[in-house]
Amino acid sequence: MKIFSNPQTIQKSIKNLKLKKQTIGFVPTMGALHQGHISLIRRAKKENDIVVVSIFVNPAQFGPKEDLKSYPKPFVKDVKLCKKEGVDIIFAPKPESMYPKNYLTYINVEKLSGTMCGKARPGHFRGVATVVTKLFNIVQPDKAYFGLKDYQQSVIIKKITEDLNYPVKIITCPTIREKSGLALSSRNAYLSKEELNKALSISDSLKKAKELIENKKIKPVKNIVLEIKKIIKPVTDKIDYIEIRDAETLVEIKDNIDRKVVIAIAAYVGKTRLIDNIVVKPR
Ligand code: AMP
Repeated sequence: MKIFSNPQTIQKSIKNLKLKKQTIGFVPTMGALHQGHISLIRRAKKENDIVVVSIFVNPAQFGPKEDLKSYPKPFVKDVKLCKKEGVDIIFAPKPESMYPKNYLTYINVEKLSGTMCGKARPGHFRGVATVVTKLFNIVQPDKAYFGLKDYQQSVIIKKITEDLNYPVKIITCPTIREKSGLALSSRNAYLSKEELNKALSISDSLKKAKELIENKKIKPVKNIVLEIKKIIKPVTDKIDYIEIRDAETLVEIKDNIDRKVVIAIAAYVGKTRLIDNIVVKPR
């Protein structure tokens, strides 16, 4: 397994691999790897000759009051995990090599970036879109793997590749959860035992919403949101949003759930902002 930190050096190495007709599968991460990330790596291993994992806590996607400084960075452990999974290349650049002092170019996906998490975290998706575009240019993957845990992010990245004609196939992979239902996240490391218990209410409420829509045939958005609130309000200090949107376009569903939708929640448990979602199709 090779580890690169310099964008130009990895670019050259990838060029050589491509000349040898090797296919490149790419898994972008911010490190602190868990089974969610591993599931993407395993899928990439199955479908490509070479698997590249990037580990980069991207400053451009953090707001000034967010957890950039405290974000976990267990690099040595991450490297070991990647090695164990048979990753071929790790790309772990320094922030200054991705964003040198004279850096000026940013990617913005209109509309999609300003809703849901984009509303609560202004500039977040501009940072995500920019770094993913840069990483695609550096790694030049045939396929890139993203988790549905970050649903809005996956829709935005698909849009970028479509709009900018990127020759990369975006593969989305299911959310990996604890047995309890809690979606795995690097940020779960911030939670105390008691908070971990409270956090369960988010996945519980999504499960309940799915059951109400698919089995009990309840369609009004209003009712579903109410049921979700009943479960999560007693345990979270702050709900950023509970949204029901078209699963493909993220257009807001206002009245009745009449198509495949994503129900997405962002809420704080203590000081930690958690997100989760579920895709539901009324029968
Ligand atoms: P992150 O390191 O949080 O930026 O995540 C890197 C990639 O892993 C993104 O595509 C995430 O959607 C994906 N990911 C994070 N958590 C999970 C999870 N629990 N299940 C599946 N994919 C995940």
